[in-house]
Amino acid sequence: MKKQFAVIGLGNFGFYLAAALFQKGHEVLGIDINARQVQEIRDQVSRAVIADATDPQALKELELEKLDAVVVAIGSVLNNSILATLNVKDMGVKRVVAKAVSEAHGRILRKIGADDIYFPEKDLALAAAQRLDNPNVLDY
Ligand code: ATP
Repeated sequence: MKKQFAVIGLGNFGFYLAAALFQKGHEVLGIDINARQVQEIRDQVSRAVIADATDPQALKELELEKLDAVVVAIGSVLNNSILATLNVKDMGVKRVVAKAVSEAHGRILRKIGADDIYFPEKDLALAAAQRLDNPNVLDY
């Protein structure tokens, strides 16, 4: 079934996630503070906009509460990741998924109400270790 998603932060993780969801037939809104990222993904999502996710007013106009899930894919700037997650939770978004770059970051995101947390680097490392340990096992 077709779902509606928004991905905030179109760095490597956010970019590939947004494009992959769109390719799977979902409606995807891509959001980034940086015009270059927004320009780059324009043809690979339903809609892409420039907005600062730390600004509640900027997010309000995007009506994110109507979507099935919002992914906060801002990583390294903790302040922005935390504020963006808080803002989307405060808007009443049904399902907020956030990316964490460390265990401590993940704990903070969980405390402020993120429904699910991804640790992409940790997950990739575990998957890589699994493949190196047993190259004969296909993991897809
Ligand atoms: P990746 O490893 O996925 O590239 P990263 O962990 O290095 O990401 P960041 O560099 O912090 O993460 O941010 C990823 C994206 O989030 C960038 O494209 C950046 O412009 C965007 N971003 C950062 N702050 C905000 C914000 N306040 N509002 C919207 N987008 C933001």
